[in-house]
Amino acid sequence: MSNPTIEQLLKSSSAQLVNSDSALLDVQILLAHVLDVSRSHFYTWPDNVVNPSDLIQFNTLLTRRINGEPIAYITGQQEFWSLPFVVSPATLIPRADTEVLVETVLNNVVSLTAKGIDLGTGTGAIALSLAHEMPNWSMLAVDYSQDAVELAQKNCTNLNIDNAEIIQSDWLSNVDDSWLNTCDFIVSNPPYIDEKDPHLSQGDVRFEPNSALVAANGGLQDYIDILNRVKPFLKPSGYVFFEHGFEQADALQRLFTECGFSNIKTVKDYGNNDRVTFGQFI
Ligand code: GLN
Repeated sequence: MSNPTIEQLLKSSSAQLVNSDSALLDVQILLAHVLDVSRSHFYTWPDNVVNPSDLIQFNTLLTRRINGEPIAYITGQQEFWSLPFVVSPATLIPRADTEVLVETVLNNVVSLTAKGIDLGTGTGAIALSLAHEMPNWSMLAVDYSQDAVELAQKNCTNLNIDNAEIIQSDWLSNVDDSWLNTCDFIVSNPPYIDEKDPHLSQGDVRFEPNSALVAANGGLQDYIDILNRVKPFLKPSGYVFFEHGFEQADALQRLFTECGFSNIKTVKDYGNNDRVTFGQFI
């Protein structure tokens, strides 16, 4: 059989991706990755024939996707805040909803020279987007996992960001004393899924590290641990911003209140679900 055209290949391969609700987009991203072109190329050149070696490579990637592996792990990339991030199975894949967390920080922290810490940075998506957006801010990003620290460092270098530092730390335990009483804000998207949540055995999250997804105490334990440690690092009126699960806003509001925070607010994500809760330590 002769080699397929781009149009034929996209059609036949998307039909094989029955488990994905974005089959055509998935195969376009995979083929664009193999051919090293943008997706617009496919609309301009639908009749171009795909050569045999590209076809073999594409079919290998397609099989991985058919087996459920997330597109971002297959291509090694994910866009976040319009920036290209390198990803690996060592960390969570940055989610579009997490951009709401970045936006909420930017909408509330008014100082042009703010200092902030991102706890559990993973790819570095939150800290590096903030550092990129606000070149006079100083960001410190920490992760418990050395693999995540290396990945975030790689993203920091690739994005030419010079106002973010990345260190290995169990929450704030390795953060230098020079950060005490200096932070305008602390931000985190910690693990927050309950270990019994059926969503953990479905779809893309099956391939992501459990350590980045699951927390004890119905998914709340990491918020409790963080809130119990942040105060010495915050300036007066400093903020803590958390991403959380869509049913956790009430619990987060309660935790912030119990820990003595004020001006506690919850913000919805693009799907109209409660997603970010924050408060100020006055
Ligand atoms: N929002 C992610 C999900 O539902 C979870 C992220 C997290 O645990 N921090 O898959």
